Order: sequence, then C-alpha cells, then structure tokens
Amino acid sequence: CGIVGYVGPQSALGVVLEGLRRLEYRGYDSAGVAVLADGGQSTAKKAGKLANLEKVLADSPLPESTIGIGHTRWATHGGPTDRNAHPHLSADGRVAVIHNGIIENFATLRAECEAAGVEFASETDTEVAAHLLAATYQGTPEGPGRLAEAMRTVSRRLEGAFTLVASHADEPDTLVASRRNSPLVVGVGDGEYFLGSDVAAFIAHTREARELGQDQVVEIHRQRGVTVTTFDGAPAEPKAYTVDWDAAA
Ligand code: GLU
Repeated sequence: CGIVGYVGPQSALGVVLEGLRRLEYRGYDSAGVAVLADGGQSTAKKAGKLANLEKVLADSPLPESTIGIGHTRWATHGGPTDRNAHPHLSADGRVAVIHNGIIENFATLRAECEAAGVEFASETDTEVAAHLLAATYQGTPEGPGRLAEAMRTVSRRLEGAFTLVASHADEPDTLVASRRNSPLVVGVGDGEYFLGSDVAAFIAHTREARELGQDQVVEIHRQRGVTVTTFDGAPAEPKAYTVDWDAAA
C-alpha cells in the first residue's frame, strides 16, 4: 500500500519510517522495513500500526545503514500477520522485496519456484518476486546495472498490478524498482535518492520528483544516480517535476 526507499548519507531507517508515517493516510494493516548492513539484509516487520513496528525496532534495533526500504501493507493475498508483512526475502536471505498491488499469475510462478525446491515463508503473492529475483540475479552477468537487469527480466513475467522495490545484499549502493498499473515516484535530493508510492514518501526531504511511466524499471545508485529503462531495457526519460504543494508538518 505504502512504499518508501532511500539511498544517501542519512540513517535510512529514520527516513523510511518518516516516509511511512506520511503514507499512513492510505490505510494499512501491517508494516515492515529492511536495511542493508554488514553484508546482509536486516529486517523487522509487524502486523498492526507503525507503533507496533517501532516497538519491535526499539526492543531489537537494526544495525546502522544508509540504504533501506519500508512498506505499509493492505493485505490482498494472505492474512494481515507478521509473516505476511513485507519486506519478503529470498530463500538465501540476500534479496528483499516490497510490493504494492496484486501479482495475478503468482500461483503459477509459485508452483515453478516450489518445483525448483524453494520453500515459501508466507502466503502472499509478493514473495514469489523475491525468489524469482534472487534466481534471475544469479543468472545475470556481473557489472553495473545487474540488479536492474534482473528486475526487468522478472517484471516481464509478472501479470497484474505492481510497484516493486528490491535490494540485494551483494549491492549495498543500489535500489531497483519496477511498475505496472501502479504508481512509482523517484525523489532526487542532494546526493540522496528516494523511492515512493507517492511524493508524500519523501516530501520532507526533496521536492524534485521523477515519475516513472508504465512498464518501466528504475535503478537508484549512490554514485550513478537515477537510471530508467523500459522492461525491455530501452533508455527512458522519466517525467521531471517539482512538487508544489505545501509540505505540512
Ligand atoms: N498483494 C500484496 C499482499 O497482499 C501487496 C498488498 C499491498 O498493496 O499492500 O501482500
């Protein structure tokens, strides 16, 4: 339901939680975050209000990190439980994914993953994207843009409506995101980048926005900045605009 991503110099958790708070007006039944630290993913997720998640984080703090993602969920597939809350991880724990929308062909894809030996940890339609992304990443040549390339390959296979954001423990400076029939906006700050399901996710930090078009993938990289392509890999120019409404506190 609500999506936030951050790469930059600030503590990611603070930025992500602040963004999720500003997206609360959309309604949600659970919340979760993932940050990249010490070569791995660290996650926390909890059914109920953001305050429940914040209590979990206070009791067992995540390591410091400057790259992270956060989600507030409105359950469509699988009840509003801790386990079904996003982010969802790949079986090896390297990939974290958050998702708005519905992956219509998830059952077919899930059966395919299960046939390959993957054990699922949730009842969501979303989790299949984490497993597919991890497997596809392994089969994608090394080099800049590898995670974005894997995201394009996976996105072409997904039917329905989705805004997906993902990170990989092998790429501590990169977030990738994808959209079809569901909105995705990039915020560009001074040496920092944001992803949001709408501009409220980052309005406290920047008003410079880039709106992705249908069936596009974006990579935000700490050094390389923002790169947008179509699902087929053709370069795309996102629509740039300045948010002009008042950022009420
Ligand atoms: N379909 C996904 C789920 O049920 C995402 C729902 C949402 O948009 O929050 O977990």
